Amino acid sequence: MDEKIATLKKWVDESDNIVFFGGAGVSTESGIPDFRSVDGLYNQKYDYPPETILSHTFFMRKTSEFYKFYKDKLLLEGAKPNKAHLKLAELEKAGKLKAVITQNIDGLHQEAGSKEVMELHGSVQRNYCMKCHAFYDFAAIKEKVNEAAEKYKPGDADYMVPKCDKCGGIIKPDVVLYEEGLDGLTMQKSVQYIQNADVLIIGGTSLAVYPAAGLIDYYRGNKLVLVNLQPTPRDRYANLCIAGKIGEVFSQL
Ligand code: NAD
Repeated sequence: MDEKIATLKKWVDESDNIVFFGGAGVSTESGIPDFRSVDGLYNQKYDYPPETILSHTFFMRKTSEFYKFYKDKLLLEGAKPNKAHLKLAELEKAGKLKAVITQNIDGLHQEAGSKEVMELHGSVQRNYCMKCHAFYDFAAIKEKVNEAAEKYKPGDADYMVPKCDKCGGIIKPDVVLYEEGLDGLTMQKSVQYIQNADVLIIGGTSLAVYPAAGLIDYYRGNKLVLVNLQPTPRDRYANLCIAGKIGEVFSQL
């Protein structure tokens, strides 16, 4: 076994206060593209850059364009938890891991069995009518997007836009878009978990999206681990830096 992975295994074996902080790279081995890898969403061609499409202003002004991108890239069906998700759920069950703090919106940690999941950026699993606040799950919104794609033509304002059965209002995913604030309670709990953690494992994130990335500054311990394919701005602050695929690394723990 690689020496660095052996060190991580030792720290994990010895601790019962591990916290994991992750991002889109945790789900690439489940087939969901991240944003900043060479084959990630930012390197694909759209009429607008993804940061623009996934912003509050864009959602309000060009809802149909938003849903076109959202359906193709984020309303993905069939993705299953990979070895990283499963290992984290196993560590929580064994009483060793206190929480998963994720920037992901795919719900795969919960599907793997994790209970204490801080979803900093919300989830595609929850959707609400903007007018009457009726709840719609993933399957319901997907069906409505497809219905609106059949009913209207590309270029129509309502093309692919899901509408509420009860009041006809537009349904919005419970996902934090650029320009929107993060949930205060989720942030507060995340800070507490990180402040109290013995081992903090950061994985599959470019640490480029704030304020989420700033949370790791609350860590006070000396077992800061970074598991990422590409270098991050925080590599030099880590006590252990592993360049590798997170699923492959975690399956050796
Ligand atoms: P990012 O795309 O900026 O960075 C992903 C990082 O993960 C990259 O540095 C890449 O090298 C690394 N990576 C990719 N595959 C990996 C693997 N198998 N093992 C280890 N490292 C791997 O993602 P981010 O930092 O999470 O920020 C982007 C924002 O977009 C976040 O809010 C994120 O939640 C959201 N997003 C979510 C999903 C999802 O829910 N699955 C997908 C795309 C983007």
